[in-house]
This record gives sequence, C-alpha cells and structure tokens, in this order.
Amino acid sequence: MPRPSLSSRVHLHSFSKPPPSESSSRGPNAFSLLMSSRKENEAWKLAEVDLAKPESAMGKARRREGRRKAPFYKVMQGMPVAVDAFRYGKIPGVTAYFLTHAHSDHYTNLSSKWKNGPIYCSRTTANLIKLMLQVDPKWVHPLEVDKPFIIPGTGGVEVTVLEANHCPGSSLFLFKGKQTVNAGDSGFNSPYVGSTKVFRYLHCGDFRASPRHVLHPTIKGHKLDIVYLDTTYLNAKYCFPPQKQVIEACAELARTLVNRGESASLEETFDPGFPTNDEEDKPDLNLLEDDGKSLEGVGASEAKRILVAVGTYSIGKERIVKAVAKALNSKVYCDGRKRDILLCQDDPDLHDMLTSDPKEAQVHLVPLQTINLERIEPYFTRFRGSFSSVVGFRPTGWTYSTPAGTDLFPSVGQVISRPQKTFTSSSLNPMRNSNAKYRLYGVPYSEHSSFHELTCFALSVDVVKIIATVNVGSAKSRGMMNKWFEKWEAERKKRAKEGKPSIVPYRCLDYW
Ligand SMILES: [Zn+2]
Repeated sequence: MPRPSLSSRVHLHSFSKPPPSESSSRGPNAFSLLMSSRKENEAWKLAEVDLAKPESAMGKARRREGRRKAPFYKVMQGMPVAVDAFRYGKIPGVTAYFLTHAHSDHYTNLSSKWKNGPIYCSRTTANLIKLMLQVDPKWVHPLEVDKPFIIPGTGGVEVTVLEANHCPGSSLFLFKGKQTVNAGDSGFNSPYVGSTKVFRYLHCGDFRASPRHVLHPTIKGHKLDIVYLDTTYLNAKYCFPPQKQVIEACAELARTLVNRGESASLEETFDPGFPTNDEEDKPDLNLLEDDGKSLEGVGASEAKRILVAVGTYSIGKERIVKAVAKALNSKVYCDGRKRDILLCQDDPDLHDMLTSDPKEAQVHLVPLQTINLERIEPYFTRFRGSFSSVVGFRPTGWTYSTPAGTDLFPSVGQVISRPQKTFTSSSLNPMRNSNAKYRLYGVPYSEHSSFHELTCFALSVDVVKIIATVNVGSAKSRGMMNKWFEKWEAERKKRAKEGKPSIVPYRCLDYW
C-alpha cells in the first residue's frame, strides 16, 4: 500500500473540520478522546513490523526507504515532540527530541552526527551524551528537574522533568499543551489538532515507580490523558523487593562481613608472645600499581582488609555503591572511563567518595560481569597485597527468582493488599561456588518498577489511557498487558465508588 505523502501526514492547524467542542472533549471516554482501538491496533501492527527489523538489517532498508519509521508511541499525540526516538532520524513534523536517560536502548543511533533538532534531557543525561556519544553541544538542552519549561517551536507545549528513580539523570516527562500537529509516521490524524483542549501526557521512560511520583504536584489531583508506561516487569511473577531495602541490606551485609572478617584475621595474626609493630605488619601499599600488574611478593598473608566489589553497568546502581562505601567509611575506586561517567552525574556526594588510588578504597566499582568466580580472581590478584579476600555484589533484576507458589494471576485487589515482606541482609545468599576467599552475592536489585509497584502506581494516577512502551513486539504480549490495564481501570473505578483513597496507601515515600 503506498504511504500517504508527507504533506498529508503532517498538517499544522488543520481547521478544515471544526474541532470538537470543549464540552464534548471532557469525560473519560478514551476512544473518543484518543485513538480508537481499531486505529490503535493498526498503529501497533505498523510498529510491530518495524520493531521486528534488527538494526543490522536497517542499513539496506534505510537506503531503500530513506529511514526507519517511528512507531506511533514515540511521538506525543498531536504534539511535535518525540521521546527516545533517535534511531528514526528526522521524524516528520517533530521539532523537539527528548531523551529520558542515557541507556543505549533509549539513545540508539544518537551520535556526533546528530543534526535533526534540539535534544532536551536532564543535566546529567546531557553531560553523559556529550561525553559518551560526542553529540554536538549545540543540540543539547539540559532542563532543570521540577521546573516547568515551554518548549520552543512546539506551539506552546510545556514540559516538567520529574526524577524517574531509574539510573542517574533518568527523567519522567510531563507534557502539557494543545494538540497542534499530526507529527510522526503513524498516519493517525487526531480530531483534536487545532482544538482548545489542553492535553497532559506523562512519559515514564524507564522508571521505578514510587509514592513520590504520584504525590508530585504535576500528577496528584490532575487527569492524565495518556501515560506512556515502562512495562518491563508487567507480569505478576516479578515481585522483587523495594530498592531501598535491598540497598540497606547490601550495606549492612558488607559492614558485618568486613568487621567479622577483618577482626578474625587480626586475631589469627595476633601473637602475644612477640612484640608487634603495626607499621611493619601492614603490606607495603606503595608496591601496589595502578596498571593492572599483579603484586607478587607483597605479602598477601599479611593483608587484613576485605575488598568489596560492586558490579554495575555503564550507568546505574550507583546507590548501592554509595551506601556500601558509607557503611564502611571508605572511598570508592573505579577505572578512568567509569570515573569520567560518574563525574557527569549531578552528585557531589558521590564525587567526594571517588579516588584514583585502588589501595585507598575498600570499595571498588567494577563491570557487572566481573562479579563471577572466573573473573573476580584475576581482578583480585592485582590487589592481593592490600586485601585478603573479596566480598562481591552483583545487583540485577534478573537475580530475582519468583518464590514457589506465587499466584501469577492474582486479582488487582490481592496485589495491593498482600502483606509485603521486608528484605534484610539475611535475605542475601552467596552465589553458587562462592568460597571464603571470594564471597559473591547475587542481589535482586532493579531500577525498573516491580509488578506490585506498577499496579500501585497505576491505581494512584487519574489516567485515561495507558500505552505500553516495553515488550510491545508481539500482539500476544501486548494483549496480556492490555488485560492488566483494563483490570487496573476497573479497580480504580471500584475504589473511587467505595470511597477508598485515590492514592494506594504506602509504607514510606520511597516504596509501597
Ligand atoms: Zn534504562
């Protein structure tokens, strides 16, 4: 089928048809207000074809078709605003490109060659894309968190950046404005383009939902026309523990193991029959080299300190590192590249902890894959003159395994009323093959919302329509997610009728 021409797909302020009146635009009728379900299905079908194409296959396709088409959910409905859509090049009608955070699956194809329009993001993300991707600074516009900003060239769309509770610099965007243009590749023509109705869209990028989000003044008490939702763990099997509890558990375990281990080795080496000289008993730290060479002959048996290694990706999971370093009153060491990345982050506390001297720091930040038995041994060998053993943490959402007997099809009421367990240091178990010298722990830590948190979030916001942005590549997966969206909507209505609080009661501001 031939695609409509650019001019018919993008039309500014088309007043040929009278826009719907204000009164008819009120009310929660998602179908009249937004895309009809039939239209949406068509849009998903188009998106699906595109999603199925691997990036490597796109070289040829791009040459043939010009460029990859942006799925409808990458462009805010009726607004010339795209989010996390750099792989699609210059999108018809789009005048402002937003980036939620500096993870590679969100900035695909963004590089020093970018020239398709201004990029808006948080200050940390702006620093990161300039450093890591060499994006020309003339395109990069950092925005302040919580400070509304009118986006130039968008017909007055206002954006507020909210802290996403994902990796450093990650943002939610609250867009508020009229529909002025049918931008994008979907071909969907909104009847509200040119009308006076003000729409509010919340784009969640990647986030870990918390009560702070729903209590935010731009969200609490306001109707959201569309929420673009991070549906990474929208499945009842993902009931992993709250981030803050996991962070505190790691810090507590590190403190316990280090105190116990270091005092034990002191007792072992303590011999009251001989006068001791503390200075001589310490390994010669000056022999430790930064270039990765081993420290043969330094006297490994004399080292009493325990090295705590925390695995991370390029950005993310810094909160565990900080908590562990604080608990041990230690500096943090990492390699030069990682250090540059950490210095991009708007986090003076973290910057104060950093040292380029690995022997000064008891806490080392290492690539996530280093936290396994084969890789930690050569890493440790470089520093064995200064440390006697290693405690390693490997934080990832995939460490989590669903407890046997978990109800995978609970009612929404059950999801929010189930008592939540508390995660403590004793909940952490050493990985298989760990031994006294290398004690490695898988940590069920995620910077995406758990199923429970997604449910609590969705019940606590006044939303007309939720659009999934993750796991959308198959109709089956989308169908399963839609079922939850429908159940959430029904439960929201039921709760309102029963006079229950509009925000699901929470344990603390950080988690439900
Ligand atoms: Zn991410």
